[in-house]
Amino acid sequence: MFNKRIKIKELLAQEPKGQEATVMGWVKTFRNNQFIALNDGSTNNNIQVVAALGKFDDELLKRITTSASLKVTGTVVPSLGKGQTMDLNAETIEILGDSDPEQYPLQPKKHSLEFLREKAHLRFRTNTFGAVFRVRHALAFAVHKFFNEKGFVYMHTPIITASDAEGAGEMFKVTTLPLEGNIPKNEDGTVNYEEDFFGKATNLTVSGQLEGELGATAFGDIYTFGPTFRAENSNTTRHLAEFWMIEPEMAFYDLEDNMNLAEEFIKYIIRYAIANNKEDLEFLAQRLADEEKQLPQDKRSEMGLMEKLDFVLNNEFERLTYTDAIDVLKNSNYSKKKKFQYEITGWGMDLQSEHERYLVEKHFKKPVILYNYPAAIKAFYMRQNDNCEPGQQTVAAMDILAPGIGEIVGGSQREERLDKLQSRMKDMEVPAEELWWYLDTRRFGTVPHSGFGLGFERMVQFVTGMTNIRDVIAFPRTPGSAEF
Ligand code: ATP
Ligand code: MN
Repeated sequence: MFNKRIKIKELLAQEPKGQEATVMGWVKTFRNNQFIALNDGSTNNNIQVVAALGKFDDELLKRITTSASLKVTGTVVPSLGKGQTMDLNAETIEILGDSDPEQYPLQPKKHSLEFLREKAHLRFRTNTFGAVFRVRHALAFAVHKFFNEKGFVYMHTPIITASDAEGAGEMFKVTTLPLEGNIPKNEDGTVNYEEDFFGKATNLTVSGQLEGELGATAFGDIYTFGPTFRAENSNTTRHLAEFWMIEPEMAFYDLEDNMNLAEEFIKYIIRYAIANNKEDLEFLAQRLADEEKQLPQDKRSEMGLMEKLDFVLNNEFERLTYTDAIDVLKNSNYSKKKKFQYEITGWGMDLQSEHERYLVEKHFKKPVILYNYPAAIKAFYMRQNDNCEPGQQTVAAMDILAPGIGEIVGGSQREERLDKLQSRMKDMEVPAEELWWYLDTRRFGTVPHSGFGLGFERMVQFVTGMTNIRDVIAFPRTPGSAEF
């Protein structure tokens, strides 16, 4: 058996008292031909391996270079040096894989995040990305833990869908028709998708919600957690073409129940990450503080990362209606001094991210849940509110806005009344024939139900303090970029 190593995280938690240990990992640095900082990815902390002078061949020592992989067996003793509690006094050192220092692209110095994006295949070996991706893992695990504890059924909704009715964004087509060959055409010149693989036009999903609703109206509570795709040509720090979304759907939930669940959920997964990845988060907090030192005073965050997370945990999210939000924005100094790029024109307008960020970062200074949006700017499946003022029809939608990120959750109570749903689909030209299966849930035992979608990468951004969404997913897909 090859692998009877101890992970460095576990080893560092032990008391050093001469016990034997075998570790394996990659060299971070090698100082004075004697001190090897070895890392195995289990933690950002390295074990200091001591190769006593004269004990090892020069030939071997020469091969201990940054990112070479080693197997080391030795005894664990209290460290004489500063900066670590223990040393591993090496008895044997085996080079598992060499790393040519002339060729290795990540020298042990500070690299920019942009540079590291080009080296995304190796960036996990840096402290920053080590921490980010361990936190990402913890958050993903916490998602499942939260819903499992609440008795939700984890449902896998399809990646390839034939419905493009959801309208959440531009879709990627899925086809086996020959793009460069003879594409079968109908008489009117349009593509004949009957000849295509599925016998109809198909796309990559933008959301699993509609299928999720089918699950909720049988299991009661379900959630999805999977990849979603949007061919939107928006090159921003918070949009990806491929991202992961968590979409719970709950029967017997109204909008308020929905908001309560979303808030509880967000707090739960943050709390889990703090409890299980404190060191990584503290490292990221320091990284962010250092990065922000480069910024002018007014661009820096008012709170450090840990402080911000604690603040979110310990305060209720601000809840206000769209209508009230418009009033706040209209009366704001920003609006009066024309500091918004997009003017506040009044009720009915779609909010731009600068408006959302104003509400969250300048006005309320905490996460905000906006609800009851104008029907005209929201999707067909959202429940129409009763007793609206004439000309001010709203739907039971809610968005959660987070400081530094903007929209992190979008959700709603779903329209459960068949006639209302059908008339709205007609108005919005959503093809009812294609969604016959969706409408069936309203025909056979319809119930009030709700759900939301949380963009997982935006959540990871919020918790890690990374400003660019490309730095919280292993291999980002964005317009013009699908490397690795
Ligand atoms: P935005 O206005 O920010 O583009 P949206 O209104 O298109 O968001 P929804 O369709 O409600 O978003 O999707 C639900 C959630 O998925 C959003 O709240 C957000 O967290 C996330 N999300 C949406 N689009 C993207 C994207 N392109 N990349 C990463 N996350 C996304
Ligand atoms: Mn969008």
